[in-house]
Amino acid sequence: MRIAELIPTRRPFLSLEFFPPKERDTWPKFFAEVEKLKALDPLFVSVTYGAGGGTQANTLDVVTHLKREMGLEPMAHLTCVGASSAALGEFLRAISDAGIENVLALRGDPPKGVADFTFAGQEFQHASDLVRFIRVNFPHMGIGVAGTPTMHPESATLEDDLKWLKHKVDAGGQFVVSQLFFDNALFLDFVGRLRERGVSVPVLPGIMPIVSMKGAEFIASLNGKAVFGKHYAAIEAAFAKGGDDAVRELGLAHATSQIQGLMDAGVPGVHLYPLNRAEACLEIINNIKM
Ligand SMILES: Cc1cc2nc3c(=O)[nH]c(=O)nc-3n(C[C@H](O)[C@H](O)[C@H](O)COP(=O)(O)OP(=O)(O)OC[C@H]3O[C@@H](n4cnc5c(N)ncnc54)[C@H](O)[C@@H]3O)c2cc1C
Repeated sequence: MRIAELIPTRRPFLSLEFFPPKERDTWPKFFAEVEKLKALDPLFVSVTYGAGGGTQANTLDVVTHLKREMGLEPMAHLTCVGASSAALGEFLRAISDAGIENVLALRGDPPKGVADFTFAGQEFQHASDLVRFIRVNFPHMGIGVAGTPTMHPESATLEDDLKWLKHKVDAGGQFVVSQLFFDNALFLDFVGRLRERGVSVPVLPGIMPIVSMKGAEFIASLNGKAVFGKHYAAIEAAFAKGGDDAVRELGLAHATSQIQGLMDAGVPGVHLYPLNRAEACLEIINNIKM
């Protein structure tokens, strides 16, 4: 079912994001973690592509398995940077044939190691181009888009970013999944500003529990330290004092308090990034009063 139609059926809900491990021989272990997370009864699960998420083929095979073998409602991430309409069409047809009804339409980051890469002249320059392409060629497909409460690093101002996010929704984005953030006030302000601009689609907060210093460093390498706000210094202080045990304790307490605060503020649901590991998420959700 399309996620936009599922969202009004339950409040609040949880959704989960997975990244397909690159090594296929580790997939049984990965699916075992997913099986444990089924206890949270996620409204949908999303599967990344590229940027640490492996290949398009992995995304396709994982969403197919989650749908057919595990009875979950998957959303495939799809990036358009450097891609042709033929290649994007082929992937969309393949997921459609597998019964997948939802895509998170993303631009993606500039390819690493390509000197002088520029978006100008590319067939797809912005995520909104991909949203339009899907709307026209795969009109039955549900479409989510990404939003960044801390402002996308390429934007000059938050105003610009909000303007382009509205543009992406107007092109056919049916709901927004947010980039991770660690300060609820930023997210709630972001949603308020979108509402002032007439964006009425659901905006799902993305929450990631940080459970190790390595995990924090990995996220910083993908998204920059700015995304953490003051939380990065707190993680470093915890690590210096008590190593990863202290980071985990801090990370779980922080994510629990964030999710509780967001639910109390009336968000429709929370999108959790479990980093393919069930234990921490189950611990957090057990402590939430829904
Ligand atoms: C929930 C979530 C999941 C993600 N999953 C993945 C994944 O699986 N794989 C992956 O590789 N990456 C993923 N990303 C990262 C994403 O690809 C990067 O953040 C990327 O840099 C921007 O993607 P976007 O879809 O937000 O791009 P866009 O919406 O195109 O925005 C990118 C920048 O361009 C600006 N902009 C947008 N439209 C226009 C326009 N028409 N004219 C001028 N400026 C414009 C925006 O304000 C922003 O600064 C994810 C991000 C999020 C939040």
